Amino acid sequence: MIATVKGTRDILPPESFVWNRVEAVAREVFHSFGYGEIRTPLMEPTELFTRGIGEDTDIVNKEMYTFPDKKGRSLTLRPEGTAPVARAYISNNMQTLPHPLRLYYIGPMFRYERPQKGRYRQFFQIGAEILGPEEPAADVEMFSLLVDFLNRLEFTDLAVGLNSVGCEACRPGYRAALQAVLQEHKGELCVDCVRRIDTNPLRVLDCKEAGCQPVKKLLPSIGGHLCETCSAHLRFVEEGLNALKIRFELNDRLVRGLDYYTRTVFEVVSGRLGAQNAICGGGRYDRLISDLGGPKVPGIGFAIGQDRLIEILPESFKAKVKPGLDYFIVPVSPNELLPAFELAAKLREQGRSAGVALDGKGLKKGLKFAAATGAVSALILGEEEIKNGEVVVKNLATGEQVKKKIDEL
Ligand code: ATP
Ligand code: MG
Repeated sequence: MIATVKGTRDILPPESFVWNRVEAVAREVFHSFGYGEIRTPLMEPTELFTRGIGEDTDIVNKEMYTFPDKKGRSLTLRPEGTAPVARAYISNNMQTLPHPLRLYYIGPMFRYERPQKGRYRQFFQIGAEILGPEEPAADVEMFSLLVDFLNRLEFTDLAVGLNSVGCEACRPGYRAALQAVLQEHKGELCVDCVRRIDTNPLRVLDCKEAGCQPVKKLLPSIGGHLCETCSAHLRFVEEGLNALKIRFELNDRLVRGLDYYTRTVFEVVSGRLGAQNAICGGGRYDRLISDLGGPKVPGIGFAIGQDRLIEILPESFKAKVKPGLDYFIVPVSPNELLPAFELAAKLREQGRSAGVALDGKGLKKGLKFAAATGAVSALILGEEEIKNGEVVVKNLATGEQVKKKIDEL
């Protein structure tokens, strides 16, 4: 037997019906806000991620699927969606399009991580990006979009965390303040955090190592270091969320695992997920496109982890996803097989879903198949029924049977 690659899995029906429904709701919501789908390649030049995401991040340091192709070019399976969107913006000269540009994506991402509950090597993200506006109104729109989607999935118990990680003007001061405290406690930090003191001290706030937690408590928060522009930006976002009645918590320790964020960062967590509790991360990336050699165009976006989202999807939503057919047609003998196909075609034309018992082995077997498909009703078609333009409708839940004219179905 050939097994799946470690950290990957097959998603089968009926579960895939739930995945499809979630994606359909995402598309409906995104389209209702004027977002268009962008489909970028699953593989990109490695340089896109080393330059875009940053060298001293978990993703670039340890999680990328990087390999040479037959000509020796270094390729990487995309670990996230924002850097590819920024690359596509530049490659396709998208600055000539009307702005703001509103884009979304749905698809697999790849990270070489230790597989566990809620953490896979191939996982799926649903993400959105708005490119162009520097104004905090764009940040508010992002939250509005995100919360609208989560509400339609009937979530009621998610928590939104919000912070600002500052900008080129104020972050250096905060970095220095962090470095001063971190130097004093160097001996208590993990090896990664010791390195981060110089390369990226903000990332220490995101470290999950048990040993680093006490030091994290001693670190200053960014709040007092934000410049006037960044503070005003954050205040506007807070007011916007209040006006939209979006519940959130200001968390001045929140930083995100990617280097490209500026100002607004946020995440959505669920209390029902255990250790891997984040279902969504996002933030503003005003320098990403220009860092990759494009024009100076700000952006903001989020990415939802679809695997985790589905893991905690409310039962009320799942109950409405109906994988079964409306009708399953059971020909009583092989003579009724072709008329059964015709009837099925007619029902499908009317927008119903219908299947046919293919083996023509009679009523008992056919009804057993019908029940196994999860169909709502079986339609029994015998010689006499065909003669009269009728069919026997059997409700598979109650077992109740009635004869009906085919036209009345
Ligand atoms: P985590 O802290 O869980 O490692 P992250 O900060 O690496 O998350 P992001 O890069 O922000 O994650 O990706 C956005 C979302 O994608 C996460 O909130 C999570 O729901 C999901 N995600 C990230 N990595 C994985 C993975 N390996 N398997 C499943 N889902 C993932
Ligand atoms: Mg991660």
